[in-house]
Amino acid sequence: MSKSVKIGITIIILLTVIPVYYIFSQQEEEGKNPSTKNVKLEQKVAKTVGTEIESETTGTNALTSESQNSPTLELSEQAIKQEISKEVQETAKTTVEEEKEEVRNDFIVVIDPGHQRRANLGQEPVGPGASETKIKVTGGTAGVATGKPEYKLTLEASLILGKLLEKRGVKVIYTRTTHDVNLSNKERAEIANQNHADLFVRIHADGSTNRNVKGLSVLTPSEDDQYTKAIYQDSLKASQLILDETKKNPAVKVNGISYRGDLSGFNWSKVPSTLIEMGFMSNPSEDKHLSDTSYLTNLLTSISDGIINYSNSNK
Ligand SMILES: [Zn+2]
Repeated sequence: MSKSVKIGITIIILLTVIPVYYIFSQQEEEGKNPSTKNVKLEQKVAKTVGTEIESETTGTNALTSESQNSPTLELSEQAIKQEISKEVQETAKTTVEEEKEEVRNDFIVVIDPGHQRRANLGQEPVGPGASETKIKVTGGTAGVATGKPEYKLTLEASLILGKLLEKRGVKVIYTRTTHDVNLSNKERAEIANQNHADLFVRIHADGSTNRNVKGLSVLTPSEDDQYTKAIYQDSLKASQLILDETKKNPAVKVNGISYRGDLSGFNWSKVPSTLIEMGFMSNPSEDKHLSDTSYLTNLLTSISDGIINYSNSNK
């Protein structure tokens, strides 16, 4: 096809697209009921958000190749439709960005990367007013295949999770961003309390003497725990929503929820809390997976989806 024909076709497409899109947008502007428009837009947003990047790329490619192959009037109509759908996506993107803004100052997540370089074997009360005490912070487990200590994996994972949440408008605060800290489980919970976190998310990995055991678990305060009565319901809701999202992820083996009344990190928390045991570092293949950035990011995307669902459920 000659260059001038291409230019001609491009001009025809543009001249057709602009008025058609104008008519479409006017029709929507003049919709009888303003809330109908919102509903429609929300549906469009829901449809397009998941495949935003994909459809942007393929949409453009399709337009280019079809225009080149057979420049008939019929295909110009297709081009117009694609141009309009691109516009719809642009609108959807803008709306999503506005929603992100709304969440930004609203929802605070404190992420606690479990453990630290050196365990602190000193004792602290298991909960406010408790006479029973427990080790301040243990050393955690280590990968049987990778040799990686749990405190390194939990920080790697926490930083990925934090970035995923920040992208979606959540305010993220970390209890630690280095390995050389001295923070007991009580002190970590207090960081969440002082920052008035909407959710305290503790990131850990499991270990077992049985190398065959694998899978992700979500730990949540137990119903009969005297210290966590006020946060029991919301913590469970968050834990359940996170678990639901991980179950949708075919790459991740999920075990379920574990109710715990013995964790100082929950007992000292005044804000809804959940703990993710991402998998077993004592299982060689799961240990390797957890050190694979793409697997870890995929897993944490499900966890961030669950957290976003929880933030939306509390609006
Ligand atoms: Zn741990």
